[in-house]
Amino acid sequence: MKRKDTPKEENSLDLVRSLRPRKFSEMIGRVKEIKNLGIMLEAAEKRGEALDHILFYGPPGLGKTTLANVVSNELEVEMHVTSGPAIERQGDLVSILTNISKRGILFIDEIHRLHRSIEEILYSAMEDKVIDIIIGKGPSARTLRLDLEDFSLIGATTRIGLLSSPLRSRFGASFRLDYYSSEELATMVMHAAKSLQVRIDQSGAREIAKRSRGTARTAIQHLKRVRDYVQVLNKQGITKSIVEKVLEMHEIDNLGLDYIDRRILDLIVKDFEGGPVGLSTISAALSEEVETIADVYEPYLIQAGFLKRTPRGRMATQKAFKHMGYSRRKAVSQAKLFCRHS
Ligand code: ADP
Repeated sequence: MKRKDTPKEENSLDLVRSLRPRKFSEMIGRVKEIKNLGIMLEAAEKRGEALDHILFYGPPGLGKTTLANVVSNELEVEMHVTSGPAIERQGDLVSILTNISKRGILFIDEIHRLHRSIEEILYSAMEDKVIDIIIGKGPSARTLRLDLEDFSLIGATTRIGLLSSPLRSRFGASFRLDYYSSEELATMVMHAAKSLQVRIDQSGAREIAKRSRGTARTAIQHLKRVRDYVQVLNKQGITKSIVEKVLEMHEIDNLGLDYIDRRILDLIVKDFEGGPVGLSTISAALSEEVETIADVYEPYLIQAGFLKRTPRGRMATQKAFKHMGYSRRKAVSQAKLFCRHS
């Protein structure tokens, strides 16, 4: 398979790519998605057509890019890789689209961040495989129609709600990627350890999985940090107690919550008596982007039962109070004390 990436992406992604599954058979979990994609791929191949446009959505690190890569490998077609914010002008997208070969794939990561005027070019490109370019201005302006090859668009987004409905409706299939189970993550860790040539026992892999917030990327990052530690200290391999020690050094607690997760919970539990608190208030208090909290932190905290989304804002659950070491009443009185003294 041929690929077209910028040289910068090529360098920084080298190691990540070596850990990325290349075929459906190398992927862990995602059984339902693989089955449906497999049928779509086989049907498209039988008809000699490009695959229908596909959208992958869900929190970061759950395999959207990996699945796009696997699809292009399985079809043995060229894949152009870009992202919403990287396409600044209409001309950028026109030049990418006119360069796609027959049955090739265009992968747009963070597709929700495409500028509306650029997004509009995609409508006719996806539906009729043509693009209309306006040349000139005023009364002398003309429209030039360019024919495109039969291609497939694979979009990936963490924020499906921000996708305009005309764009969303042009995808033939949408796949929501959920968090991985602990068993799936432990298997991924065992596989990745083999590629990284580090020994790990089952209980070590399970401990990494347990602290990885259901996220493949996090599990691999944790594994790499623990590998650093065992290599520097010349340990034989990774065990549960080593994982506990290293992840605690990195402020990852026994449920996998990191420093920012805990600051979010602490803020809501302690300073706001459990909430409700608006996202912008949380973002301002923590000096973190609203998008980062909404895309990266909040979805897991909600799914793990620490936060509740209500019309008036985010609220901490009893589980959050307990995890942060407060009973509800104690937290309230502490917060009042805090207000009186500040
Ligand atoms: P996303 O595009 O959703 O942010 P990625 O596709 O970049 O996530 O996945 C993050 C990392 O997790 C990659 O290094 C990939 O190798 C690994 N990964 C994700 N899903 C799987 C899977 N099902 N099997 C094996 N590895 C996976």
